[in-house]
Amino acid sequence: MRTDTPAISAMGRRTRAVLAAALVGVLALCHGRWAPPAHADGRRAAAAVRIGVLEVIQIDDLEERASRRRYLLHGGDGTRTEVVFSGEVPASLRTGMRVRLHGREAGGGASLLVEAGSGLELLQAEATASSTYAAPSVVLVVDFLDASVPCPLSQIEDIMYTGLASVDGDYLESSFGRQSFPADTDGDGAPDVFGPFQVPYTAGGSCDYYGWAEAADQAAAAAAGVDLSRYRYRIYVLPTEIAYACNFAGLGNLGCGTFCRSWIAICDRAGTYVHELGHNLGMEHAGTDLDNNGSIDDEYGDASCSMGSGRFGWRQFNAPHKIQMGWVPWERTVAVTESGVHEVALLELDPAAASPPPPSPTQALRVQIPYLKTGKWSQEHYEYFISFRAPLGYDANLQPEFHWRTSVHRVRVRTYTSGTSFVVGPTALVATLGDGESFVDDRMGLVVSQLWHGDSWASVEVMLAAGGGGGRGKGGGKKGR
Ligand SMILES: [Zn+2]
Repeated sequence: MRTDTPAISAMGRRTRAVLAAALVGVLALCHGRWAPPAHADGRRAAAAVRIGVLEVIQIDDLEERASRRRYLLHGGDGTRTEVVFSGEVPASLRTGMRVRLHGREAGGGASLLVEAGSGLELLQAEATASSTYAAPSVVLVVDFLDASVPCPLSQIEDIMYTGLASVDGDYLESSFGRQSFPADTDGDGAPDVFGPFQVPYTAGGSCDYYGWAEAADQAAAAAAGVDLSRYRYRIYVLPTEIAYACNFAGLGNLGCGTFCRSWIAICDRAGTYVHELGHNLGMEHAGTDLDNNGSIDDEYGDASCSMGSGRFGWRQFNAPHKIQMGWVPWERTVAVTESGVHEVALLELDPAAASPPPPSPTQALRVQIPYLKTGKWSQEHYEYFISFRAPLGYDANLQPEFHWRTSVHRVRVRTYTSGTSFVVGPTALVATLGDGESFVDDRMGLVVSQLWHGDSWASVEVMLAAGGGGGRGKGGGKKGR
């Protein structure tokens, strides 16, 4: 395991690169134990080793019942292989990672079956960018032979870049100026939204979103002279008919390599643009577990985060995702290990810029959940993240249950021997609390209460049973109200 991780102040893509670098160690260890899997069905399947760059596609289905994920391996010779993993896939796998896969061929070599725990070896992390990142992005509007995108280009320009509210503006505000999607990467004075380009497909045909994107790329280069090499983030806006024919609101690469893609099937739903680009940046879903039984009730249910449903409209991101992205540095969080009262600054405001400044710059309290285990990844554990939200700026649309209230999320955290920690996997909202309300976890003797709040911070009491933060707490639940 590598321990030469940088200072905790490293942000965003930098921290993800380190995470990936550390994953190299984990997977290399696993690789040492690798042996060809036995074939239970008795059929012969050719053992194969493939090296290439991984692509992860997150598919957000239209009804948001459950998302799906697809993995492709791009070989150096231009080949593309579908990868079917069995077993627990590491939560940190991202587009752009260079991997060696040991598996069995299927479908005449078109796909590769890989046991994730033993057949996956990470060779090189995804490409990285600096901590303040102006992401070069382009939108291609894609018409089909029998269907066209109903939004005019000017509407899409507004949603992405130039409107009073825009995707670029949402990211800028949510990241305290660290993450943006500037409008005019090619420097011609106009937002980089191009099209519509017609592709030789019908909306009722196959759902070959990969083929659509490649056809649109060719059309944009040939017909409009768009130089796609300028853009790391490529967004394809599709006819609404596609949403129904193929049952997705959007798709996006999870993580970004040399370049990555988002597909938007509902052209006027701003939240879907923000959401898919969030996948490109490496974020997973913001769900809910309101009965706190350990399993997610609604994968898209956290209305306080753009990584929840795209239907909720403009809003910022929840505390775990802001921390994951490095927008809220870990130094602005406090790990709570004993009972006490803390001032938690609003998540919407940079504490340094808030006027009057809150008494403490803390934007999230973290409490380890000792009784939850994460399976085979021993460096991972769960924590509650406690933050305070208000309907300000892009959060003006927040549902009332978040207004001037404390949010409690359950979050999976990976910690390395150096002590550096990362948020991995999806997040779960478990409770929101107004003044005088409490969240109780009887299993670890935890009570979280919002005592009262001011204009820029809330006073939050955390009560822990003796030893509760250190892994020895059992029961002893207190009533909080
Ligand atoms: Zn999604």
